[in-house]
Amino acid sequence: MVTIQADEISNIIRERIEQYNREVKIVNTGTVLQVGDGIARIHGLDEVMAGELVEFEEGTIGIALNLESTNVGVVLMGDGLLIQEGSSVKATGRIAQIPVSEAYLGRVINALAKPIDGRGEISSSEYRLIESAAPGIISRRSVYEPLQTGLIAIDSMIPIGRGQRELIIGDRQTGKTAVATDTILNQQGQNVICVYVAIGQKASSVAQVVTNFQERGAMEYTIVVAETADSPATLQYLAPYTGAALAEYFMYRERHTLIIYDDLSKQAQAYRQMSLLLRRPPEREAYPGDVFYLHSRLLERAAKLSSSLGEGSMTALPIVETQSGDVSAYIPTNVISITDGQIFLSADLFNAGIRPAINVGISVSRVGSAAQIKAMKQVAGKLKLELAQFAELEAFAQFSSDLDKATQNQLARGQRLRELLKQSQSAPLAVEEQILTIYTGTNGYLDSLEIGQVRKFLVELRTYLKTNKPQFQEIISSTKTFTEEAEAILKEAVQEQKDRFILQEQAA
Ligand code: ATP
Ligand code: MG
Repeated sequence: MVTIQADEISNIIRERIEQYNREVKIVNTGTVLQVGDGIARIHGLDEVMAGELVEFEEGTIGIALNLESTNVGVVLMGDGLLIQEGSSVKATGRIAQIPVSEAYLGRVINALAKPIDGRGEISSSEYRLIESAAPGIISRRSVYEPLQTGLIAIDSMIPIGRGQRELIIGDRQTGKTAVATDTILNQQGQNVICVYVAIGQKASSVAQVVTNFQERGAMEYTIVVAETADSPATLQYLAPYTGAALAEYFMYRERHTLIIYDDLSKQAQAYRQMSLLLRRPPEREAYPGDVFYLHSRLLERAAKLSSSLGEGSMTALPIVETQSGDVSAYIPTNVISITDGQIFLSADLFNAGIRPAINVGISVSRVGSAAQIKAMKQVAGKLKLELAQFAELEAFAQFSSDLDKATQNQLARGQRLRELLKQSQSAPLAVEEQILTIYTGTNGYLDSLEIGQVRKFLVELRTYLKTNKPQFQEIISSTKTFTEEAEAILKEAVQEQKDRFILQEQAA
């Protein structure tokens, strides 16, 4: 007979209970309270992180930005027209990230790193956070290599170094985009990867920039990130960070990169829109209090990495638009204080036909001169000085009719120097071409020409030197110095070109 012992049974039960550890999986979910204007308020989502991606029932992705006691404010990446009140929302446990790879070169993508150029998927196996911390002090070294823009006025007087942040600022239609895109064109063969971030622009303007890159072979080493004016504010706000993540990927792989943010005023406006809808308190010009941090955390990611990290670099050229030259507005002052200098474009100069319309007097570069090659330093000092004197003299000469000979000469020189700084769009010059141009001007070889002839003369001189005296370029690129030998070659070429030019003009 089998006897059941109560004690034995209870032991078994106890054992079972102890071993009973069912996996409990808590899916962090919530329900939609309210949705509209690209914003949703969610009830629940108790353990969501700030900046975490959440997924709506119908597939839209959002970012949790406001974590309040009664609800979570989420901005939508998409129009979210199909989201219903009361539907459920899932936290994904991920902070916003994008795939990155070499395959992105040559492509046009949106803020979520999805291709929008109709050329198929982009393969990648790695991911990077859209927002990642900027390299610290130990990870950096000081800027020492030049990043040539190809524009004489910038490379000689407001030079930019690899790893620097230089602001391009000016009113609308003053050639801001042109300065930035010319710089990208000039990186051909320089081993620099470029990222052009277009924020809140017309789709036609972006298409124009892309076509320009394609026609001039610049697309091979360039990635375009575009969120046009009709994109949701969230995506316009994210686009610069996406661009930065891509540039960072290459920077940490020991490459040199250049990133253009065109423009941060529009990004700030998109952020203001999001913030006001999230009911964050407005401050100056209705921007939220953290709009400074919006730009500082972005621009701090530009860096020149230390030797132990492979010396990669990320040079950032943010663009900011001003209203009638007012640099004391909120966004301009913020970005000026974050960057290492600014290139100021003036509408008056632009309309007077001085293009690129760079106001050299109030533009500065705080670190780039350390990166200029010696040959450029040798010729640029005199140019800067003479132009400054000319600006002073010109203002004063307007009031007097009879000027002495010396003053007249100085004015004539200044006018020719200003002429030599003019450059048409998409025509960047190599550094040795810039050097010979500046030398010719500051040493008075242009003084005897009519102002209208200066540009033609210089174009011909550059071609003449390139075809007939290639040693000049060889000396500059091998020694990085404007040696006596180079000077002698140049002087001879200028003389020969001048004789030819005079004959040619007489014949015409
Ligand atoms: P927006 O405020 O609309 O963004 P922007 O300041 O970026 O304008 P761009 O679009 O670069 O200005 O240039 C304005 C116009 O000036 C364009 O038509 C462009 O082709 C022309 N332009 C720019 N730079 C030059 C130049 N160096 N020489 C001649 N034309 C130029
Ligand atoms: Mg522009």
